[in-house]
Amino acid sequence: MKQNKITIIGSGIGGIASAIRLAAKGHKVLVLEKNKVAGGKMGQIKHDGFRFDTGPSLFTLPQLVDELLNIDNSHKRHSFNYKKLENVCRYFYEDGIIINAHAEASEFAGEVATKIGEPKDNIIEYLANAKKLYNATSDIFIFNPLNRALETAKRITPSALKPLLRINPLRTMHRENLRWFKSDHVIQLFDRYATYNGSSPYLAPSVLKVISHLEHNTGAYFPEKGMYNIVEALYHKAVSLGVEFRFGTEATGLIINNNTITGIKTKKEDIKTGIVVSDVDVNTFYRYTGRELTKPRAVKKSSLSSSAIIFYWGMDRTFPELDIHNILFSKDYKGEFDAIFHKKEIFPDPTVYIFISSKVVKTDAPERCENWFVMINVPPLGDKFRKEHINTARQNVIGKIQKVLNINPEMYIRFEEVATPETIQTLTGSFKGALYGNNSNSVWSAFLRHKNHSSKYRNLFFTGGSVHPGGGIPLCLASAGIVEKEIESI
Ligand SMILES: Cc1cc2nc3c(=O)[nH]c(=O)nc-3n(C[C@H](O)[C@H](O)[C@H](O)COP(=O)(O)OP(=O)(O)OC[C@H]3O[C@@H](n4cnc5c(N)ncnc54)[C@H](O)[C@@H]3O)c2cc1C
Repeated sequence: MKQNKITIIGSGIGGIASAIRLAAKGHKVLVLEKNKVAGGKMGQIKHDGFRFDTGPSLFTLPQLVDELLNIDNSHKRHSFNYKKLENVCRYFYEDGIIINAHAEASEFAGEVATKIGEPKDNIIEYLANAKKLYNATSDIFIFNPLNRALETAKRITPSALKPLLRINPLRTMHRENLRWFKSDHVIQLFDRYATYNGSSPYLAPSVLKVISHLEHNTGAYFPEKGMYNIVEALYHKAVSLGVEFRFGTEATGLIINNNTITGIKTKKEDIKTGIVVSDVDVNTFYRYTGRELTKPRAVKKSSLSSSAIIFYWGMDRTFPELDIHNILFSKDYKGEFDAIFHKKEIFPDPTVYIFISSKVVKTDAPERCENWFVMINVPPLGDKFRKEHINTARQNVIGKIQKVLNINPEMYIRFEEVATPETIQTLTGSFKGALYGNNSNSVWSAFLRHKNHSSKYRNLFFTGGSVHPGGGIPLCLASAGIVEKEIESI
């Protein structure tokens, strides 16, 4: 096998996973990272005894992380451990209904039947259908390059493909959920999965119901030392395989000779390389890091996923009524998505997500305290994110918590930090702070997503949440697997 000098730009989860895979194959791998630490959107804040994961909080398919940690079969015990959550999420509605989404499907269905009268079988059959759909689509749409979809599909038995052929590609996720469930509460609960890749259930195709399969059938997990421990474990694995990380090093351009990229410019020096893998958000990559290249269609016609405003609150009390993952639903879900994707403004009655890692990781907050990560979905950066807009959003979030939980959080906030689309853009290089690159608000989105191998430059590859197969930890890890396959095949 030919050993290459490979330079990866960006140490997000996709960048580190690619580094591990390529180093394990014997390549010499260098990672350039503009920040002082690894992780990108998966960051952490520590303050006065509190620790917050700044980005992802929902962890599914942990075996993809295990696979990387065991890639060289070194049998050295790695220090990354996680546990399965018994309760996936606690959902709160304004009419006082509370649903505990138990990990076990029949228990979850029982809870929904008792609380709101939705027939148990509706939930059980929906999740079974989502599982079949996932099994039919994952190899084609997640773990392999999309341009080899037909090739991959041929390897799957025709009967396993049936669920994919049966689903109406033009139906939206919301319409699909309307067909399955009687209760508005359950429809809203399953519609919410569209937000897992920054999309709207009223626009995204029904096939995205597979997302609920991951949380409910394969399970939701949490690392024993918090989400950032995923980055730490993978970073140490990469280093042990000989990967070199250069922090505080921003790639500022590419050196191109005869349609081949021969080097990367940084503020300090030019770095020669045989292969480039970019883990930078593609919308940022073509505008800044690799601006020498012609923008492809996926970037010229980009339709961005949602962004977020997050309040990290160190709370001076514990709240037994809350779990690790909590959702306080908006009363007007359609209005919320119209505001995000059409009006491009912050919705006054947002769905509020409260994530409290200290419920599981006791050391994440001082004794008798909690670390609240309070997030609302908003449009990507525009002109409606001035200080007064953020202040109004904060007041609305506090109002919502008071109304639904009967708690005035303001009384207990001991520490506060805020992330906005602007700070997400600055800290992670994500264009306009979009959390998942382009959205999936069209039936064509999966096909229009930027590919993992450049069609023009033979030695340029792309990984991470803004390219195929999409955003979120499992898909970023899948993108690294595809990059490995693509590089091995050149
Ligand atoms: C608030 C929030 C909540 C989320 N919640 C979840 C969740 O619950 N579950 C889930 O699975 N996913 C979630 N996600 C999505 C998930 O975090 C991302 O899909 C994933 O972390 C993206 O990884 P990446 O490989 O694309 O790299 P990124 O994290 O985007 O990192 C890119 C890296 O490249 C660096 N970089 C950029 N430009 C340059 C340059 N020119 N030179 C050198 N370095 C550069 C950046 O500094 C950064 O470190 C969330 C994201 C956010 C922001």
